[in-house]
Amino acid sequence: MKQRITVAKGDGIGPEIMDATLKVILAAGAEIEIDEIEVGEKVYLAGNTSGIASSSWDTIRNNKVFLKAPITTPQGGGYKSLNVTTRKILGLYANIRPCSSLHPYVKTKHPKMDVVIVRENEEDLYAGIEHQQTDEVIQCLKLISRPGCEKIVRYAFEYAKQYGRKKVTCFTKDNIMKQTDGLFHKVFDEIAIEYPNIINEHWIIDIGAAKLADTPEDFDVIVMPNLYGDILSDVAAQITGSVGLAGSANIGEECAMFEAIHGSAPKRAGQNVANPSGLLHGAIMMLNHLGQTKVAENVHNAWLKTIEDGTHTYDIYKEGVSKKAVGTNEFADAIIKNLNATPTHFEKVSYKNNSRLNLPKYIRRNPLKKDLVGVDLFLHWTGEDPDTLATIVNQLSSEDATLSMITNRGIKVWPEGFNETFCTDHWRCRFKSKEGNKLTKHTIIHLLKKANENALDIIKTENLYEFEGKVAYSLGQGQ
Ligand code: NAD
Repeated sequence: MKQRITVAKGDGIGPEIMDATLKVILAAGAEIEIDEIEVGEKVYLAGNTSGIASSSWDTIRNNKVFLKAPITTPQGGGYKSLNVTTRKILGLYANIRPCSSLHPYVKTKHPKMDVVIVRENEEDLYAGIEHQQTDEVIQCLKLISRPGCEKIVRYAFEYAKQYGRKKVTCFTKDNIMKQTDGLFHKVFDEIAIEYPNIINEHWIIDIGAAKLADTPEDFDVIVMPNLYGDILSDVAAQITGSVGLAGSANIGEECAMFEAIHGSAPKRAGQNVANPSGLLHGAIMMLNHLGQTKVAENVHNAWLKTIEDGTHTYDIYKEGVSKKAVGTNEFADAIIKNLNATPTHFEKVSYKNNSRLNLPKYIRRNPLKKDLVGVDLFLHWTGEDPDTLATIVNQLSSEDATLSMITNRGIKVWPEGFNETFCTDHWRCRFKSKEGNKLTKHTIIHLLKKANENALDIIKTENLYEFEGKVAYSLGQGQ
């Protein structure tokens, strides 16, 4: 029986690469029926800031499988990225981006590269929670959750198991973000134990990224939080030869969305030059997800054969290596001619057991013992001397909560700050309860009331907690 899928042709090069992709998979016998929806630039510019009509959500949710071409998010005007919204609103927590070299047919410095980036897709700095708090300072909240970490890390290991991959590497920056990235790393270590046959390792993202760009052949599956995954999957695709080569699967418990990793490349639009391979790879992953593994295999092998034949779009065309420069359409036709053929140089792809993964649902743990032990008051203050601020703010101290530290952009400036530290108009004043005592919400309300009476401009508060007696907030830098 045919499976209904939702298709959006998107913006820029989107319609061309989508037409090419659909032509190829339908020629290969994909058993699909298509509901097309309009998303992206036209919808944004018609006044819908989310880039999609509510009826289109119904189509996506009914069909559960969405093949989407890239879209253009207009700059400014408060337009929210539809890609980020779709991933989050549909709970598409896992973003899978395989990137492999096509040496010697596509020029690359990394002939042996075969990496799969598994990117967390719902949280991190992409929570989209940003606030301007003072004249000089804007904040963006980085949210990392235990369910978010558990789901993505487990997905990475299960993916490695299903696809016969040997190693899963985790990238984080937990030497700096000890709590958020620290949780991601901790969960990675916890779950890795359940997969003794798969090698696991962790790299700090900066050196990890440098190694990935230098010796990608040392990596296999790499799992990482959202922002790092976004950046490094573009890098990984580009160093295989072109960002136009890689596809991406966005997987949730109910729905899934498949796309190319690249954007709408507006400069290349309407010229029949774009490489449809990225979206085609998205479609291959979609066919596997739908259980149409034979069709996925056929398309993938025909595509490899076409690359081997030297039939190349402009982005991978190289004099002396490529045989024929083709446009988007002609590339699709060449793949169709190669259906049922086998690549001779590249190993034939076989997707026998590679339909969708079924992962256990997240189970919430019992709540931990949580104690309130202090509060950070964030202040908009245009003075320059931290000692003066400490004198002013100390007026708020009481038996229950005393001023223990002032920081500016995280650096301790009182007590015993350095004159050299540059200060903005955004100050954090930490009030702590006496050693061993707890604080009540009442004390915080009292602090805020006194701050208000003293005309102090409090722009936000953050409670300081201990969980099971363990400090669960960061110290000031330099503290
Ligand atoms: P981009 O990926 O669209 O293009 C960057 C460059 O890469 C292009 O100029 C082109 O030289 C090359 N390129 C990209 N895809 C190619 C292909 N298939 N074939 C050949 N060459 C290709 O990045 P950008 O220019 O930064 O972004 C353009 C627009 O795309 C922006 O509006 C951005 O918001 C949007 N975008 C959308 C998605 C998505 O829909 N998933 C992802 C990223 C960016």
